[in-house]
Amino acid sequence: DSGSKTKRRTSLESLATKLKETMASQEGPAPGNLLPPEVCSLLNPAAIYANNEISLRDVEVYGFDYDYTLAQYADVLHPEIFNAARDILIEHYKYPEGIRKYNYNPSFAIRGLHYDIQKSLLMKIDAFHYVQLGTAYRGLQPVPDEEVIDLYGGTQHIPLYQMSGFYGKGPSIKQFMDIFSLPEMALLSCVVDHFLGHGLEFDQAHLYKDVTDAIRDVHVKGLMYQWIEQDMEKYILRGDETFAVLSRLVAHGKHLFLITNSPFSFVDKGMRHMVGPDWRQLFDVVIVQADKPSFFTDRRKPFRKLDEKGSLQWDRITRLEKGKIYRQGNLFDFLRLTEWRGPRVLYFGDHLYSDLADLMLRHGWRTGAIIPELEREIRIINTEQYMHSLTWQQALTGLLGGRARAMHTPSAHVSRRPIRMRSRGRCITKALFNAQFGSIFRTFHNPTYFSRRLVRFSDLYMASLSCLLNYRVDFTFYPRRTPLQHEAPLWMDQLCTGCMKTPFLGDMAHIR
Ligand SMILES: [Mg+2]
Repeated sequence: DSGSKTKRRTSLESLATKLKETMASQEGPAPGNLLPPEVCSLLNPAAIYANNEISLRDVEVYGFDYDYTLAQYADVLHPEIFNAARDILIEHYKYPEGIRKYNYNPSFAIRGLHYDIQKSLLMKIDAFHYVQLGTAYRGLQPVPDEEVIDLYGGTQHIPLYQMSGFYGKGPSIKQFMDIFSLPEMALLSCVVDHFLGHGLEFDQAHLYKDVTDAIRDVHVKGLMYQWIEQDMEKYILRGDETFAVLSRLVAHGKHLFLITNSPFSFVDKGMRHMVGPDWRQLFDVVIVQADKPSFFTDRRKPFRKLDEKGSLQWDRITRLEKGKIYRQGNLFDFLRLTEWRGPRVLYFGDHLYSDLADLMLRHGWRTGAIIPELEREIRIINTEQYMHSLTWQQALTGLLGGRARAMHTPSAHVSRRPIRMRSRGRCITKALFNAQFGSIFRTFHNPTYFSRRLVRFSDLYMASLSCLLNYRVDFTFYPRRTPLQHEAPLWMDQLCTGCMKTPFLGDMAHIR
C-alpha cells in the first residue's frame, strides 16, 4: 500500500543521508570522492608491484625459470593442449567419444582454484580457507551454496591442512597453480559434465587421474614442445623484450643464471629465437631438467654436464662453467659452487610453489613472481564500472560498520537493505573478472588463497619479465604501507585503493 511505500522511500532517503553522514564523519571523504578516477586510471599493467622493500642496487645475481618466465607463451596454446589431451583420453584411455564435442572455453576457469576429488568440486578458496559462495562448480554446473555447506559438515570452511599438502598436492584436494592447469581444469569440468549428463557411473579419483595423466602426456610426449618449436613467432610473446632485459642486466655487470625443468634442445631453440645463437654468453650457469621443486630441497642429486650434442657426461662436477649446460643437480651444490647466497640473488619464476616457495622459506633469496593475469585484471580495475562498483560497496560496508558500532540502535529496526545491496554489488564486481570464479586475487573482500601465497613467497610480482624495462637497474621498490586493522589510515593513498604511490605512475602512463 501507498503508506508503506512512502515509509520505504523515507527509509531509503534516510539511508542515503545516513550513508553520507557516516562517510563524512567516520570514513573519510564522501563516496563520490572516494576514488578519484584520474588517479586510479593510472594503475599500469606494466608496473612492478612490491610485497617487500627491495633495492635492485643490492642484487648482483639474477636467476630465471624458462617456461612462462623468460618465454612467455600465447594463450593459443591452451585450446591445443585441451584438444590433444581430450583426444588422448578418447584414443588411449578409451573415454566416450561423446567428450569430443567439448571445446576449450577460455573464460571458464581461473588459476589458483582448488578441486575436491571425491566431491568433484572445483572451487575458489580464500586466505582463511573458506570457499567463496557462488564459486563451486561440478562439471560445468554451479553447485548451490546450501549444498556446498552441507558437503563440508555445515560450514563453508574447507579443512585444507587435512586434505591438501603444502604444494596443493594432497590426497583429496588439489590446487591448480600453473598456467597449464587452465586447459586441465576446463577438460576435467567437461569430462565430469559428460559423465553426469549421461548418468554414467564413474569413480571420481580415476577420472581425475586420467585427465591429469592425459594433460601430462601432452607435455611428456613432447607434443607441446613440437608445436612451439614449429612456430615460435606464433607461440612466444615478447621475445625481443626478454632479450632487452637480459642484455641490459649483463651490460650493468650482473650475473645471470637459468634453472628450468625443460630439456635443453627445447630451451636452446626458444632462446635462439628470442636472443640469438650466442644466448649462452649471457648466462653464467645454465641448468636444464632441474626437477624443481625437489631441486631446492633434495641434496642427493648431483649435477651432470651435457656435451654439445646433449649427451650426458660422467665426470664429477667441481665447478659450474659459463657456456656449459648442466642437468639436474640441487640447490645445495649450486650454492656451494657459486657462493651466490641470500639477498643479493633475485630469482624470477611463474610457479609460486615450484619456483619460489622454497627459495623464500629456506634459502633467503629474493623472488619475483611472473603473473600474466595481472595485465587483464589491472585493466578491469581501471574501468569506471569497477571503480563505481567498488566505491559503492565500500560506502555500504562503511555504513554497516558504523551501524554495528551504534549499539543503541535496536536491531529489529535495522534495515537489511544495505546488506543485500552490498552482496549484489559484490557479485557484479566478481563477474567483471570471470563469471564463474571472479578475480584470481580476491574473494569478495578477502584475498584469495592464491593471493596470500603470492604475498608470502614473492618480494615482487609483475605481469611479465618485460616490466623490468620500465625501471632503472638500481631502482628501489617500496611497498605501500597499508595500515593493519588496528592502525589508523593516515595518508590519502590509504583512504582510497591506494594506487598513488605506485612508482613512476605518472611517467608510465604512456606505456602500452
Ligand atoms: Mg615456469
